[in-house]
Amino acid sequence: MVVTTTSLPLFVLGQGVDPHSERGVDCPGELPPASDPALVARARKAKEALGDRLFVLGHHYQRDEVIQFADVTGDSFKLAREAAARPEAEFIVFCGVHFMAESADILTSERQKVILPDLAAGCSMADMATFDQVEEAWEVLEDAGIAGVTVPVTYMNSSADIKAFCGRHGGAVCTSSNAKRALDWAFEQGEKVLFLPDQHLGRNTAVLEMGLSLDDCVVYNPHRPNGGLTDEQLRNAKMILWRGHCSVHGRFTAENVDDVRARVPGVNVLVHPECRHEVVTKADYVGSTEYIIKQLEAAPAGSTWAVGTELNLVRRLGTMFPDKTVMFLEKTVCYCSTMNRIDLPHLVRSLESLAAGQVVNQITVDPETTHWAKVALDRMLALP
Ligand code: SF4
Repeated sequence: MVVTTTSLPLFVLGQGVDPHSERGVDCPGELPPASDPALVARARKAKEALGDRLFVLGHHYQRDEVIQFADVTGDSFKLAREAAARPEAEFIVFCGVHFMAESADILTSERQKVILPDLAAGCSMADMATFDQVEEAWEVLEDAGIAGVTVPVTYMNSSADIKAFCGRHGGAVCTSSNAKRALDWAFEQGEKVLFLPDQHLGRNTAVLEMGLSLDDCVVYNPHRPNGGLTDEQLRNAKMILWRGHCSVHGRFTAENVDDVRARVPGVNVLVHPECRHEVVTKADYVGSTEYIIKQLEAAPAGSTWAVGTELNLVRRLGTMFPDKTVMFLEKTVCYCSTMNRIDLPHLVRSLESLAAGQVVNQITVDPETTHWAKVALDRMLALP
């Protein structure tokens, strides 16, 4: 599969075939039935047969049935770096979502093949910024006379095309761990930042960590003419936030925080910066997935935590730290539906196909996109 720069039509998740999209692609091929009691043994056998030729990466939001086969677990950036640090592995099976597998392909050698067990495992946030939309937005900034002083910064959770766009236009990639450092760097290069695609991470970092005000931020809506903004609003803004969000973290509300505090006296509220500004300002602690794990690791026994992030991870944290009470911030269940698409049958199919000499669901980023995306990634890696 080669990434191109076409416009993305809207597909309902898992329906229709759009090989250029993060979303809605089906997964052709024979899958073992989920009811097969031998699935665990089959995955183990195929993995053993592949030996050092195989390296399995597991994102923190993956199901337990899949994560048990991961050679390493982590957030998207840690996993991409782990893949790059394993040049001997011919096959990288990425149990995560599409943009993560793309990043792994960008950072690994040409000899290595990156496999996503289900091609329909996209990311709704990454889909909210398409290449054509971002190109159009840049033209809007040019017409307003501010493109020359604007630095594009994209969150890791974006397609390779968007990372390449940032590389070409003097910008960089950031993660939720280094967003402040990336923005400090960007404001040294220019006067404004176009932040893609997560408005919440951009706003939370700018306002809570860099001392900018909410009035310094505007939201660019790619579905409205001129982004729904006047040229004056664009010229006055310091942070131009793309109108994108995570469907999981965007669900948490300020009422969730009030509610848990009323129900559970002494609870510590710990949330991810992809949550809305009003949630983050009410929380006790805010940080990336890796920060959340470390925070709970260091927490005193007997303490109680309401965690606002993906449910697979929150449940696993509860098991990892049985001496602490770990609960989900919201009352209703909320997994990342695209992360959850990677299940044991898809993993078994990928591993058994590889063991039989057949590469399925390989993710390949074309050389031009790889070059410019790597420029943006390298700028991030060079951050102080
Ligand atoms: S949790 Fe949110 S940002 Fe992460 S893959 Fe799912 S939709 Fe995308």
